[in-house]
Amino acid sequence: MTTSDTTLKTATADEPQMSKLNLIEWGRGSFLILIHIVTLITVPLYFIFGNPSLGIILTAAAVYLVCNIGVTAGYHRLYAHRSYAIRSRLVEALVLMGGTLTLQDSVFFWAHDHRRHHRYVDTDKDPYAITKGFWHAHFLWMMMKRDTYDPSGIRDLTARPLLRFQNRWYMPLALGLNVAVTIFAGIIFHDFFGAIALVLLARLVLVYQSTWFVNSLAHFWGTKPFSKEHTAVNNWIVALLTGGEGYHNFHHTFPSDYRNGVRWYQWDPTRVFIWTLSKLKLASNLRFVDRATIQERIARERRETMAATAAAAKA
Ligand SMILES: [Zn+2]
Ligand SMILES: [Zn+2]
Repeated sequence: MTTSDTTLKTATADEPQMSKLNLIEWGRGSFLILIHIVTLITVPLYFIFGNPSLGIILTAAAVYLVCNIGVTAGYHRLYAHRSYAIRSRLVEALVLMGGTLTLQDSVFFWAHDHRRHHRYVDTDKDPYAITKGFWHAHFLWMMMKRDTYDPSGIRDLTARPLLRFQNRWYMPLALGLNVAVTIFAGIIFHDFFGAIALVLLARLVLVYQSTWFVNSLAHFWGTKPFSKEHTAVNNWIVALLTGGEGYHNFHHTFPSDYRNGVRWYQWDPTRVFIWTLSKLKLASNLRFVDRATIQERIARERRETMAATAAAAKA
């Protein structure tokens, strides 16, 4: 959901303390809770009283994938990290539409928060700091109003007309696209109940949950082969759910790399998507860390772990 409060100021020490109630983002909070409740009621009712078909289920899965690509290849790796560039305006518009469909705010706000997450990870300035608890990182942070909005961190994005257009018309675009996709699926399969239950509600909630798990579970449970300087971990379950974003320890260690999974067996279809675009000359400037640097980082991490274990054994 959007927050169009672009005039947010940084709180100063002189300002009177606001009550906790004033700090809650009531509109967004209510929407997120409501959509989960409505989905949990509607989807079982559809499978009991509706007429589920393979077509409507596959359509919901396809829209889920489009949304996933929109967030991972678009909002995250293209805009927040600028780890590559899309050369085709049409392809960029399609990727941006996928991200808009997810109701996760405009690119400006998403990238603003995500860049702060990387810059200030695990500190009070990290919007979804896992140090404030699993549920804070998962979704409670979205219930709170931003205490800081610093446009200087996204000047490269606010200079782009396409993204300014998306930000300005975010709500009509996001709602319009969701309504259009739902009506289209309903007409094609003569099943509006299924379109609302699966293509709209279940798909939105699954995309929310999988995106949120990157901020919570991928900072909570998994391995740290590249760095222990931050809480980010590699978690293959999150990678499966999100199209590759679960290799978060690698990502926080090398954030400008267009890949998150760097081994051949690691599930990172977003990496394959970007790589394929580049082979089709639709993307360029793919940024990545060379193999020797990655191996050196792993070796350094192992040396430090062994030294720490030896020191603990001596103590
Ligand atoms: Zn993270
Ligand atoms: Zn990131």
